Amino acid sequence: MSGNESRLQAIHQITNCSATAVAQPEPLSEIWASDVFNLATMEQCLSKSAFKAIKKTVQTGAPLDAATAEVVAAAMKEWAMGKGAKFFSHIFYPMTNVSAEKHDGFIVTNSDGNAITEFSGSLLIKGEPDGSSFPNGSIRMTNAARGYTAWDPTSPAYIMQTENGATLTIPSVFMSWTGEALDKKIPLLRSNAAMNKAAQKVLSLMGETEIAPLNSSCGAEQEYFLVDANFAAARPDLLLAGRTLFGAPSAKGQQFDDHYFGAIPQRVQVFMQDLEEQLYKLGIPAKTHHNEVAPGQFEIAPYFEAANVAADHQQLLMTVLKNSAKKHGFLCLLHEKPFAGINGSGKHVNWSVGNATQGNLLDPGDTPHDNLNFLLFCGAVIRGVHLFGPLLRAAIATASNDHRLGANEAPPAIMSVYLGDQLEKLFKDIKDGKLTVTEAGGEMNLGLSQILNFKRDPGDRNRTSPFAFTGNRFEFRAVGSGQSVSGPLVVMNTMLADSLAWIAEKLEAELVTASCKADAVISVLKQLITEHGNAVFGGDGYSSDWHTMAVEERGLKNIPTTADALPALREESVKKLFATTGVLSPVELESRFEVYSEQYILAIELEAKLVVEMAKSMIYPAAVTYLSELAAAGASMAELNIKLDHGVAETVAAETNAMMAAVTKLSAALETHDFDSTEAHMQYMAKDIRALMDEVRLHADALEAEVADELWQLPKYREMLFIK
Ligand code: ADP
Ligand code: MG
Repeated sequence: MSGNESRLQAIHQITNCSATAVAQPEPLSEIWASDVFNLATMEQCLSKSAFKAIKKTVQTGAPLDAATAEVVAAAMKEWAMGKGAKFFSHIFYPMTNVSAEKHDGFIVTNSDGNAITEFSGSLLIKGEPDGSSFPNGSIRMTNAARGYTAWDPTSPAYIMQTENGATLTIPSVFMSWTGEALDKKIPLLRSNAAMNKAAQKVLSLMGETEIAPLNSSCGAEQEYFLVDANFAAARPDLLLAGRTLFGAPSAKGQQFDDHYFGAIPQRVQVFMQDLEEQLYKLGIPAKTHHNEVAPGQFEIAPYFEAANVAADHQQLLMTVLKNSAKKHGFLCLLHEKPFAGINGSGKHVNWSVGNATQGNLLDPGDTPHDNLNFLLFCGAVIRGVHLFGPLLRAAIATASNDHRLGANEAPPAIMSVYLGDQLEKLFKDIKDGKLTVTEAGGEMNLGLSQILNFKRDPGDRNRTSPFAFTGNRFEFRAVGSGQSVSGPLVVMNTMLADSLAWIAEKLEAELVTASCKADAVISVLKQLITEHGNAVFGGDGYSSDWHTMAVEERGLKNIPTTADALPALREESVKKLFATTGVLSPVELESRFEVYSEQYILAIELEAKLVVEMAKSMIYPAAVTYLSELAAAGASMAELNIKLDHGVAETVAAETNAMMAAVTKLSAALETHDFDSTEAHMQYMAKDIRALMDEVRLHADALEAEVADELWQLPKYREMLFIK
């Protein structure tokens, strides 16, 4: 198809499209986790002793012996083959944000040439993919390819059903031959262990006698856009970069506030139902879905789970989301800013820590002033955000998230904590050395007899804060929609581990002299909040006053781009944090800096090359064709003695020339390859290359508003954003 034909055809097809018919949903009880080799399934197919051993490993992380692994492997194979699986795969999570998998058949041939199936404990425990093509950030030489995957029994295996058959999928860690973490799961597991160790110490100092292992929990709210596949097919930028690199604003955008929580379009409802059915089969507890703020934008939020399982489920959810969208004629965009001028997408990561004996330690209960454990854990989080704000910012730094943070639709690039009125006052009083009785939220009474009164929360919500307390958890609201949640969880768990260790040390000393436990706690928290209270902010995070106050008065950092954020990974304090907690060795940390920097540079380079290509091959031809049509029309009019105003032609000519001049500059700028450091290279991409891309876009978007609609090749915002 040439010219604007594909765009026009897309419009035609969408106008005539109806929702894909799907079967009536099956009852939840029948499909829930039906494709998961979870404890319930294992109980049915393992001996009592084997089940007891694996259950202990799953629930407490206790080591598993080789004999039990052998029994589990055999049962897993039988179960998977019974579901039609002929292949198995260790799924792992390299330092890119996507999942990786290598599929192996159960098949082996014996000496008679007959095919038999085999899956031993050793195959379950360890895989050995050629890992040379995964980014490793100088951990290995290019010629040293060996990498291992190893089964993580704490995250259940499952069957991945596709049109081409079923595969037994086994969540795994991924390491180099030298034993260094090449993935996102190993640090997550280590960060949880570090948090548990420090928390145990604090809780035992607090007099707790029975303390079950602590685990972090995560509930991630995933925002995404859907674009009709016909339109997407005509937009190389959406297909390759996941966002529109060009596009004039649509007259109707989100200004009417009519999309958020609006009625879900029928086509999308059908898609959601199908998606959720697949998620249920995979044991992913999808709970909430709704329209988001921008047209074409939606959200799905599963119920929270143990962080390690939630992280694996989040990766799987993104895969299933994209595949299901395709089936329903959509392209699912997980980019943080697919369209300029309207809201982008994030992933709110709700995080708490707890165990079976003390419960959720971030739950204040009705009387937070009485809940000393809560106050210590909440204080530990405040200290963590204050000391490691730049690290939190680095954990969410990607080329795509740069477009969203600080853009008055998403949290600012300054890390602060929102506590809510009640807790903010409580900590303020603690700073003054007193513990006051907190006031509950009271009763909501509308004065309408038919509406029942209810208990109001003690504090309002704050949507402008990047890190907000929301009643019994913290919500990290600045995470990117396409990101793995592991990095942010690693930072949160590790900073908490560090703060709890600090608290344990102080508390131990205070308990010797203090007259009672509460006095010792207040004394430690008083020091903590005096030193770190600057991170607490309850006001409008979007306001310019806050930006000035945060930096000038509070000493917080405003870190606008990834190029500014990633160097935090090289800070001594961060190296020390990860080394002392045992979460990442200095080599592993440095490798992350290198991999993330490289990904950033490559992402912007890809976009810049596309900008050049699309401007030259799709926008310039449309503009020139229009100009020649205008010229021809002008000449014909002149023959009739009618004077046609040249204004439009002049504007189109001027914008075309300006766009092509910017394209030439951008092409030349992309030829620069010599940089003193990775940091300098990142800054060049962030500032010079992006500025030139913006310059090209400015003129291209102006042309879109001038050139005859029928000549324009790229589907327009007004067409793509509103789902029919
Ligand atoms: P909202 O949009 O109001 O913030 P949602 O219901 O969309 O809330 O999502 C909240 C997320 O937080 C869900 O994934 C939920 O399961 C999760 N969540 C609730 N309680 C906790 C908790 N204690 N720890 C971690 N996550 C939690
Ligand atoms: Mg939320």
